[in-house]
Amino acid sequence: MNRIRHILSISGGKDSAALAFHLRDTRPNIEFEYVFFDTGEELPETYAYLEKLERALGITVKKIYPKKSFSDLLKQYNGFLPSPTERWCTRNLKLEALIDYVKEGTIYNYIGIRADENRTGLVPHRENFYTVTPFVEDGITLNDVKRILHENGVGLPEYYTPEYDKKFDISYNRTRSGCYFCFFMRQIEWVWLLEKHPEKYWDAANFEKNGYTWIRDMSLEEFAKPENIDRVKESYKKYEEYKKSHKIKNGTMMEEMAFLARHDKDLDDFENDQFCSMCAL
Ligand code: SF4
Repeated sequence: MNRIRHILSISGGKDSAALAFHLRDTRPNIEFEYVFFDTGEELPETYAYLEKLERALGITVKKIYPKKSFSDLLKQYNGFLPSPTERWCTRNLKLEALIDYVKEGTIYNYIGIRADENRTGLVPHRENFYTVTPFVEDGITLNDVKRILHENGVGLPEYYTPEYDKKFDISYNRTRSGCYFCFFMRQIEWVWLLEKHPEKYWDAANFEKNGYTWIRDMSLEEFAKPENIDRVKESYKKYEEYKKSHKIKNGTMMEEMAFLARHDKDLDDFENDQFCSMCAL
């Protein structure tokens, strides 16, 4: 018999969390399967948030694991770390697990792309697999997502809580769910990881071998030196001030923006692709 299955992947991020509440309220007659594709390299905050959601919604989120761990895959790739252009991690740790999980039945895969975003969801080349975007259908935006999470008493994941640095008078936080070493992090988020979860930071550093690094042109050992941490914080402060003021005159833009690390600029080009919907929505 061809079973119809409605699947909601919870990523540990705010959008899929809000989507779970939205679906409960707007599609009460549909029975959902809640799944989390666990890479085994997650932040503790992600697991804590999943538990919070399970309690608030009265659901169980099924954890789906990849066939091979990140460490084993890294050996297979001869130490070649994944990056925005060579994103073997999402394919091996999440996409293959999803394809395996949905091999039976007609699948409706619900994803938390919002009405105020311009990106498409993941569409595996498989028959009887349909991507559903209820937030787009229902006009749900970022403010709605925050409201839904607030009204349901769960708020945002803990990693969104800003850390304040008195010396530089800046606040910063992690901005996405997914692996603790995710190369989509900005440099200030690597600083956050070092300060908040030093053991995870050094675990990530231990994956750097044979000249492969997470951050462009710099090992995490080098990055962690106090003078580099200060440089990143200073750059971040200037960037935040720039965003607030917009006072840069025409013609001086590139010069003024030189303080933005090249690593961070490169990431902007890869932000809105479809794979991100598996890791960070
Ligand atoms: S969260 Fe980042 S590192 Fe982890 S699978 Fe996704 S893209 Fe790769």
